[in-house]
Amino acid sequence: MIPVNTPVFNGNEEKYLVDCIRSGWISSEGSYVTRFEREFASYIGMDHGVAVSNGSAALDIALEAIGLNEGDEVIMPTFTIISPAFSVLRTGAKIVLVDMDNDTWNMALDEVESKITPKTKAIIAVHIYGLTSNLKRLREICDKKGIILIEDAAEAHGQEVFGKKVGSYGDISTFSFYPNKTITTGEGGIVLTRDVKLAEKARELRNLSFKPSKRRFVHYSFGWNYRMTNLQAAIGCAQLENIEEHIRKKKLIGKLYTEQLKGIPGVQLPLEKTNFSVNNYWVFGIVLDDEEKAIYVQEELGKHGIGTRPFFWSMHEQPVFNELGLFLGEHYPIAERLSRCGFYLPSGLGLNETEIQSVCQAFRNLINQ
Ligand SMILES: *Cc1c(COP(=O)(O)O)cnc(C)c1O
Repeated sequence: MIPVNTPVFNGNEEKYLVDCIRSGWISSEGSYVTRFEREFASYIGMDHGVAVSNGSAALDIALEAIGLNEGDEVIMPTFTIISPAFSVLRTGAKIVLVDMDNDTWNMALDEVESKITPKTKAIIAVHIYGLTSNLKRLREICDKKGIILIEDAAEAHGQEVFGKKVGSYGDISTFSFYPNKTITTGEGGIVLTRDVKLAEKARELRNLSFKPSKRRFVHYSFGWNYRMTNLQAAIGCAQLENIEEHIRKKKLIGKLYTEQLKGIPGVQLPLEKTNFSVNNYWVFGIVLDDEEKAIYVQEELGKHGIGTRPFFWSMHEQPVFNELGLFLGEHYPIAERLSRCGFYLPSGLGLNETEIQSVCQAFRNLINQ
């Protein structure tokens, strides 16, 4: 059995966890939380970190913190996990979708520009599978028009664009630490920003909107309990100590798959690099030229004990949104192709070279049939 993901704990995870238990500090009040916030923010190159219970919670907080009003428009990619779409709709703002770039599988920036209106308040860039759009260009677009840039960088820990870390381009950016991400805390997420006001707001929203300066248990606005525990942060601190090793391993997995799978007709592999970054292969995605073939190959790999995951399903084709009357009649051909013909191969940090060879062998046999 080769699962689609296997996390690794090669560092101080156990030691720090034992420390939490022996000291009795297990809730969000423990000191690993502030340490993790400080160290992760500094690693990415942002001033403030607000650790939360998961990456979707981080997006809820980011979208709420920027203060959207009804009628405001938020531009985002149609090909993404559903979390950012839920977060936007919960604020009452309107989603404006954009199709993807055929090669990077990230948001097409020409289309972003064409969809900006006077009502555009924010743009969410969701980095896909270890690559991003050209964030320098996107930053310039936002600066020119006074638009807030939010990065959902859950799939791009440590990735760099023009030598600068992803997650530092946004006014506010979010990460997830789910077990399939480059570093994990079991469940967990973080909101990063340079703006002290946004950071303060995010801290309040994470904690039921308790206001540190006011009488306890008197509240002036809505909030959530989205706090991260000291146990999670302890694992996060240990994982962060090894993040460069994790990224090196992801890149090695990507390189080995690419070497063994390139040149097969009808099989699109992830780009090795763009003119602004080098793929760090959060996962190794594959897009076939035919939907039925893609389904068949995933099923057969499963029968051989090889785990795969289909690509995201586009936002404009989500039943939950269509039933609300959203995105009806909208079409985004590249996203539709990716979601139907794409899937990813085992890409976890625990994967070894022999396993990669078996996956490639099985894949090639199926494609050649
Ligand atoms: C994983 C992921 C999330 C959600 O993170 P959770 O911690 O699972 O809530 C959000 N955005 C992207 C792009 C992701 O890959």
